Amino acid sequence: MFNSYKVNTLKFDPEECTGCGMCTKVCPHAVFAYQDKKVVLANKEACMECGACFLNCPTTAIEVESGVGCAAAMIKAALTGGPETCDCGCDETDKPPGCC
Ligand code: SF4
Ligand code: SF4
Repeated sequence: MFNSYKVNTLKFDPEECTGCGMCTKVCPHAVFAYQDKKVVLANKEACMECGACFLNCPTTAIEVESGVGCAAAMIKAALTGGPETCDCGCDETDKPPGCC
């Protein structure tokens, strides 16, 4: 089964986390969750590298290279074993955010 965490760039350092919970509020895929009064990576394979958690985290607990995770490209590469491109036809000058 396709597991995007194997190809996404999300990194979480619990040592740097203050438990503020901001990442649990802004993540559209519920990647972070509270567990035993701590924030944990609960659904890491669901991360689509939007960058919202990284931008809103007040510490250096989260690292993610947002914009490199074009969902269509990641899925296509996982299914075909080919390069990460979605073949949407955009180029460097009109590339939408998040596209490969
Ligand atoms: S980059 Fe986006 S999808 Fe991934 S964990 Fe952060 S907020 Fe969630
Ligand atoms: S936003 Fe950062 S500091 Fe706050 S709970 Fe999430 S990882 Fe921890």
